[in-house]
Amino acid sequence: MHDMVNEYALRQEIIAASIRMNDSGINQGTSGNISHRFGDGMLITPSSMPYDTLTPEDIMYVGPDGSAEGRNMPSSEWRFHLDILRARPELNAVVHAHPTYATTIAIMGHAIPPIHYMVAVCGGPDIRCAPYATFGTPELSAHAVKALEGRTACLLAHHGMIAAGKTLAKAMWLAVEVETLARQYHGCLQLGDPPLLPVAEIENVLSRMAGYGHA
Ligand code: 13P
Ligand code: ZN
Repeated sequence: MHDMVNEYALRQEIIAASIRMNDSGINQGTSGNISHRFGDGMLITPSSMPYDTLTPEDIMYVGPDGSAEGRNMPSSEWRFHLDILRARPELNAVVHAHPTYATTIAIMGHAIPPIHYMVAVCGGPDIRCAPYATFGTPELSAHAVKALEGRTACLLAHHGMIAAGKTLAKAMWLAVEVETLARQYHGCLQLGDPPLLPVAEIENVLSRMAGYGHA
C-alpha cells in the first residue's frame, strides 16, 4: 500500500501541512514537526528550517534504525515520530506543534478531562499530559508513546502537543481540535471547576463516532 504512495507528492503534502499548521495559528516559527510513514521508515520535516522555504528535497527520510537520508538534519524529534509510528501500526502521520492553549494546559501538567464530548475524538475520556523530558530525547519519546496509549493525541508538559492519524489530513484536523478543546478548558478554568461528562457517556460517544467518521 505504502509503496504506491508517490514519494514526491507526499513530500509536497508534508510541506503544505507544515505551512497550514502555522497559518491555522496552532504553531509558530520553526517549532513543531510533521512525519508520515514511508516504506519501513518515515518522511519528516527537517530541523529548524522555516516551513515556507521548504522544497520537497528538504524533507528527510529516516529509516527504521534511525538513519537519516537527505540534505538536512531531520527534525530533532525524529525519535518520537519513529517510535509512535512503530508502536501504532494503525497510524501513518504524526503532527507535533506548540499551540498556545494546549501548551498552557501542558505547562500546568493537566490532562484535558471530558469537558466536552469531542474529547472522545482522541480515543478516550481524557487527553493525557506526558511528563516533561528534554526535547529530542529517548525519555521524551517514551513518555509520549505511553501518554498516547489508546489515544491519538497527548500534551507534552512544558512543551506542546502531539496528534496522530491514519492520514496526515486526519492528524492535522485532530491537532486543531485538541487546541480548541484546550482553549475551552482554559476558559472553563477561569470560571471555576468545570463539570465533567461521565466516562460512560464518553464510551457512548465513542461508539456513535465509529459510525460518524471520527473513528
Ligand atoms: P525541529 O525544528 O528540530 O523539528 O524542532 C522543533 C520542536 O518543536 C522541538 O520539539
Ligand atoms: Zn516541540
